[in-house]
Amino acid sequence: MSCEREREVAAAVRTGEWTEELRGHWAGCEECGEAALVAEFLCEAAATADRQAPEAGLVWFKSQLRARREAAARAARPLEMAERAAAVVAVICGVVAAAWLSRTGTLAAMVGVAAVFLMGAAAGGALLVARSRK
Ligand SMILES: [Zn+2]
Repeated sequence: MSCEREREVAAAVRTGEWTEELRGHWAGCEECGEAALVAEFLCEAAATADRQAPEAGLVWFKSQLRARREAAARAARPLEMAERAAAVVAVICGVVAAAWLSRTGTLAAMVGVAAVFLMGAAAGGALLVARSRK
């Protein structure tokens, strides 16, 4: 059941113009009390929605930008894993080569060990430069 004065009460909530007679009815009528609460909530929601709603073009642009970033990150993920695997394999190979070359104790072996470490340092530097440009 709804009261026949609900519309009057809702209009009074919107405009703030209450008559004493309507206020008296509203105080004693359960339906009009609920209608006043709903009208008050809708007025507040409409007021905040006008202030906070961003433009549709901006929302579309941001969603496109985000989709592009996520696609680029997805595409780069296998490459990053391959870089890490290559770095681990290079470090293992360098350590094994250095250990194998240093066993002989000759000058050529020492030069080989130094060359392996220099190549490792150069590869590490190249990886750092490549990562910093992403
Ligand atoms: Zn009523």
